[in-house]
This record gives sequence, structure tokens and C-alpha cells, in this order.
Amino acid sequence: MNDGRDTGAITCLSVRKIFGTGYNRFEAVRSVSLSVRPGEFVSLLGPSGCGKSTLLMMIAGLERKSSGTILVGGDEVAGPRPEIGIMFQDPTLLPWKTAIENVLFPIDMMRRPRNDYKERAIELLRMMGLSGAERKKPRHLSGGMRQRVALCRALISDPRILLMDEPFSALDAITRDEMNVVLLDIWQRYKTTAVFVTHSIREAVFLSDRVLVMGGRPSTIISDTAVPFPRPRDFSVGDTAAFNEICRALRDQIDRGHGNSDVNETAGMLPVAPGVREQSIGM
Ligand code: ADP
Ligand code: MG
Repeated sequence: MNDGRDTGAITCLSVRKIFGTGYNRFEAVRSVSLSVRPGEFVSLLGPSGCGKSTLLMMIAGLERKSSGTILVGGDEVAGPRPEIGIMFQDPTLLPWKTAIENVLFPIDMMRRPRNDYKERAIELLRMMGLSGAERKKPRHLSGGMRQRVALCRALISDPRILLMDEPFSALDAITRDEMNVVLLDIWQRYKTTAVFVTHSIREAVFLSDRVLVMGGRPSTIISDTAVPFPRPRDFSVGDTAAFNEICRALRDQIDRGHGNSDVNETAGMLPVAPGVREQSIGM
């Protein structure tokens, strides 16, 4: 077992995922190899249905891989673990619990003493601009506030790794931009490793040190692009020619992934029953 900062490293080697058996066999992820350094912010970008969520769930230990190797902090992933925090598009808050009770919920689940984490919960909520909302129930919070609570909950046990699956996709554009800024503040402060799934090119570029494009059917990683802008980043970086150039290059890579998928669609496919495949890979 590693200790200290190294626990934030992620390595995937030839990771493959096949759902179902027989005629229902469907290869969702063909072969993914990637590595994420401790403290790095990496986005997984790709069209809907290309296997981003499946890959993230395998890294989280919430979905079993069919073959290959997944290492977190040098250890093979065999199930969910406390050093990984996770966040989804839906905040999945418990409606009968207050904001702070929702933040502390993983602590209750891990049967750790709540009192040891209360101060951290209050501090996290404060950093997210939610001071005064600690005792509010989710129905009294806006969509953006609910996602902030979900982010506090993901961070409550001081995870080395934060996995996020399109966490801001359901928010309006202004709230989403705000959340991106909040997320970068938090990430810089806690120095967690971050893997962020999105199908927004601009969001991926603004947030990340590296953007991995997933594509093809079944999918693989088709490109790995470093984003050179210094940090802390200001939203105005999005107005620069360099930013737009990276976005354009990523768009090309995604389109090429689509092209490959058309050519290889059947070549790469295991026997599949009609209707099992994703209907659309539009963005
Ligand atoms: P993304 O997150 O990139 O939109 P997903 O990882 O959700 O893609 O899905 C990848 C592919 O795997 C899709 O074609 C989807 O229909 C399929 N898939 C996902 N989960 C299952 C499952 N439990 N059983 C069968 N197929 C699945
Ligand atoms: Mg998904």
C-alpha cells in the first residue's frame, strides 16, 4: 500500500468492458490505457455512448472491468474505496436530510465519528458559498446549490481522487460557468487528482491539464492533448486564440473518432442483438 500523495495516481492498462453475454454481448470499451498523475486534472471528452461513464465507474470500483488492469495509488481496484470521491450529473441528495447531513452522509456510511468531520463539512460548505444554508433541505436549494452540496459530500472524507461524471451538464450556462470556477478553486486548494467526464469541449479545456478524447466504436482513447494555460485560470482565457485553437483541434479529433466508428462499426462489434447498441452518438 502506498501512502501520502502517491495514492492519487491512476493507471489503466488495456481496460476492456463487455456488457451481457451471448447475443446480448456488447463491447462498450475496447481497450483503454491511460495514466493520471497525482494532483493532475484530466478530462475525458467524447460523444454520448462512447463509454466515458463506464470507464469512470470501473476506475471508481463501482463497475467490474472485463479485462485489463486498473491501479489506484499502485493498488488494483477491487471495489469502492474511501480515497475516491465521486460526483454525478444528478446530485442524488437525500431529500429528508439537510445540506450538512447530506455532506456528512458518507461518514455515517463508513461508520466514522460524525463529530470528527463536522468542522470540515462547515468549512467545505463555506468555501462553496453555502454558509447559512447548512440546515436547508435540498428542495429549498437551487440546482447549482445542490451540486455544490454534492461536491462537498464528495470531498468530505478528504479523497485523494475526485471522479466527476458530467456534474454540471444539467445546469444552466451561467451556473455551469460559476461551478467550473468553484471547482478549480477547490481542486487547487485540496490538490486532489481529478478525472472529469464531459461532452463539452470548452469546459474540458478550461478545467484540465490534459484532455483525453474517447471515441471509435467500441471505444478507445484516440488522443491526449496537454492544455498549457497557467493557473489559476481566469474565464477570460476562453477568449484567447490559443484556447480556441485547442478547441478546434479537439473537435477535429472527435470528428475523426466518429469517422473511424462509421468504418469500423461492425468490424469492432461483438455479436449483438438489435436495439442493444446505443442509438445515437450525437453531441
Ligand atoms: P457515455 O457515458 O460515454 O455516454 P456509457 O459508458 O454510459 O457512455 O455507455 C457506453 C455504452 O455501453 C453505451 O452504448 C451504453 O448503451 C452501453 N451500456 C452502458 N451500461 C450498460 C449496461 N449496464 N448494460 C448494457 N450496455 C450498457
Ligand atoms: Mg455518461
